[in-house]
Amino acid sequence: MISKTQPARVRFAPSPTGRTHLGSGRTALYNYLLARQTGGQFILRIEDTDRKRYVDGAEEELMEGLRWLGLSWDEGPDVGGPRGPYRQTERKEMYQKYARELIESDHAYYCFCTQRDDTLSAPEQHQQHRELCPTRDLPIAEADARIAAGETHVIRFKMPRGGSITVTDAIRGNIIVENSTLDDYVLVKSDGLPVYHLAVVIDDHLMEITHAIRTSEWLPTFPLHGHIYNAFGWEQPIWIHPSIFLKPDGKGKMSKRDTEALLAEGKSIFLGDFEKMGYLPEAVVNWAALIGWSFDDKTEFFILEDLIEKFSVEKLNPSPAAINFSKLDHFNGLHIRALSIDDLAERLRPFFERAGYTVDNAKKLHQVAEVLQIRLANLAEAPEKGGFFFKDEIHPEPESLIGKKLSANESLEMARHIQTLIQSLPDFSEDTANQPLRHLATKLGYKAGHVFSFLRNALTAQQVSPPVFETMTIIGREKVLERISNAIATLEEIARTSP
Ligand code: GLU
Repeated sequence: MISKTQPARVRFAPSPTGRTHLGSGRTALYNYLLARQTGGQFILRIEDTDRKRYVDGAEEELMEGLRWLGLSWDEGPDVGGPRGPYRQTERKEMYQKYARELIESDHAYYCFCTQRDDTLSAPEQHQQHRELCPTRDLPIAEADARIAAGETHVIRFKMPRGGSITVTDAIRGNIIVENSTLDDYVLVKSDGLPVYHLAVVIDDHLMEITHAIRTSEWLPTFPLHGHIYNAFGWEQPIWIHPSIFLKPDGKGKMSKRDTEALLAEGKSIFLGDFEKMGYLPEAVVNWAALIGWSFDDKTEFFILEDLIEKFSVEKLNPSPAAINFSKLDHFNGLHIRALSIDDLAERLRPFFERAGYTVDNAKKLHQVAEVLQIRLANLAEAPEKGGFFFKDEIHPEPESLIGKKLSANESLEMARHIQTLIQSLPDFSEDTANQPLRHLATKLGYKAGHVFSFLRNALTAQQVSPPVFETMTIIGREKVLERISNAIATLEEIARTSP
């Protein structure tokens, strides 16, 4: 059981190698929850030692994504902190010092096999490397002389030839691995920068990390990390490896191609895309938290504060879960409905503005938010569903103003009666307007549907809209009458040509 009272020092340690996806957001979230729940610290560490894969701007996008989700960090490259620097390239000297310690304690060696790649080798190669590397047991002084002469080299871990290692994951328990299956992994590359495996151990130790939540993709090299800890004689943090996401059909890991296919369908797994797509950060947090974690069988609505209270490592699911976008829509709907109207109004504003509407009337925006609240699956739908509220002029399809099975002349006559009635109404609330409009329909021999369909089309130029009474109230008397007379003019035009 992980204690809720011992302050946890946790870190989110992304590599700025591309866009920030939901998986990273979820890892950050779980770490954040543990820190906040225990009154500990949440640290942001940028793991940028892989210069080949480094992407400019990725770090900024990452921070923006975390801020958008509402996950604030206590220490990090931008805010500093007592265990910095928090960008690994700025810690190069530290790694070199510790790598040298491993060499001196015979846990690592300088390797000059430059024909070999710096990356992890295949199992049969590493056996070969372990058995055949000519400098594996070179005296340090000789290796130093070759380095001083400018020879290219890497530093490799000296994996024990026999025996096994046990590492412990809080979700999966003990994992025992035979050393013969492990590599003489590269720890420091020929550019002098450490690989992740070395840097993560040194940084987690120096930053006094107590719990490390990272994706299950690191399970295969987890035993190596255990070995490096043992070589230094350091205590390990509690390791927690939530499982990766699978693609929506559950068949395998999401590839770059799948991600692109999703984008083509208008869906995305990148944190930076959710906002423009009309998703609330609250919904994304709720959705992400529940991919791989659950509180109980029933509760599904969580805000960040609930999650801080309820999150527990014990309830993380070790099996991978498929990503489900309809769930995201579902949560988005729930969270939209949970917002206060003022809050929703302010979140809708940029969507209307980006769609070209001038939103200078705060009262109207508030009313629109109120009427749209139960009708939106996401905020991006707002201009399509409610843009007509902000338009100066609308242009209904002329045909839409003609009632079902009515002629143009009949529709025109009905419209004139509606106009007269509307003019006489003191307000457009349902209480005031519903009965008179229905009564009018019956009196003239039309269906109520004819009357309301005319009003809907005349006032909104849409087939589907919020309820007519609320719509009229928001549009206001002057515009309602203007739109009705425009519709009448259109009907007159039609009636002239084809009565
Ligand atoms: N830089 C690693 C990654 O982006 C971090 C893994 C970890 O949290 O230790 O996957």
